[in-house]
Amino acid sequence: MTALREEDSLLSVPLSDDQIRPRSLSEFIGHEDLRANLRVYLQAAKERGQALDHTLFHGNPGLGKTTLAQIMAVELGVNLVSTSGPVLERSGDLAAILTNLGRNDILFVDEIHRMPVAVEEVLYPAMEDFKLDLVIGQGPGARTVKIDVEPFTLVGATTRIGMLSSPLRDRFGVILRLEFYSSEELARIVKRTSRILNIAITENGALEIGRRSRGTPRIANRLLRRVRDFTTVCGKESVGEEEAAHALARMDVDESGLDYMDRKLLSVLIEHYGGGPAGLKTLAVACSEDVRTIEEIYEPYLIQSGFLKRTPRGRMATAKAYRHLHMLG
Ligand code: ADP
Repeated sequence: MTALREEDSLLSVPLSDDQIRPRSLSEFIGHEDLRANLRVYLQAAKERGQALDHTLFHGNPGLGKTTLAQIMAVELGVNLVSTSGPVLERSGDLAAILTNLGRNDILFVDEIHRMPVAVEEVLYPAMEDFKLDLVIGQGPGARTVKIDVEPFTLVGATTRIGMLSSPLRDRFGVILRLEFYSSEELARIVKRTSRILNIAITENGALEIGRRSRGTPRIANRLLRRVRDFTTVCGKESVGEEEAAHALARMDVDESGLDYMDRKLLSVLIEHYGGGPAGLKTLAVACSEDVRTIEEIYEPYLIQSGFLKRTPRGRMATAKAYRHLHMLG
């Protein structure tokens, strides 16, 4: 069994998130090109009075997919109805949502790759022609009726675009990828959140948190809150570089933003498997961690920052990982 750890909050959205979530495209920090393009698509749809093309956001947890879906609804002046792939168990669940949508509304489906196939099939005609094929009755007497639904925009979010079936992926007119953020962008996000939450922070304090946030705004905001706790208890007025570094070290987040689990993963790979290659399942068992958590939370950042390599034969530690852990290769 895996113990519940702070990182697990990456998979869920903390309650106070709404307070700090950007509400407009101009408040959304970073991703300049993506924002500029999205602005054009939104404006064009608005001018034509039509529903925006179905849009898919993909990228790691906490990078802003839900935030962008909410911003789209605000900018278009339409309602947003939110659900998620695993919640839509039966095709009737989706049909009920679709028939209640207003003209040009947005239906946001988080974790869309986890939607059951039967539900996905109901979605195809709805996405294409705004029609639902409903089966009424059972057995030989069953018949299909077509129902019109209002034009709507499906906004899907996924951490695993490769797991989306190609018929579903092909029905999205706009596909946007969210990358990890730079330390500077994360520092700007930390400063923005500090203003909202009334936390005094210096430029270098924000940068220190930004540097150790694994390229992820949700982590930056979480670390900021915890750093504030340490600063308050230490009787300090504001969060400077030193306060941030001290608090992050106490939380076991090192200078590269790696935490206990990241370091464990790398050291298990090096000490038990000679640096790899080792299979993901083997690593997960050796680290007592769940495969999905490793694949979706730890691995992407370790690969992006050059500590880990994914090869056809398995995962391998890089020279940078050996140096970081002070281990000999
Ligand atoms: P995802 O849906 O990709 O898991 P969210 O949209 O829920 O991520 O974002 C996680 C948190 O990070 C939100 O609280 C949001 O306030 C913050 N956030 C994400 N992207 C940005 C950004 N570009 N600028 C400012 N805050 C952001």
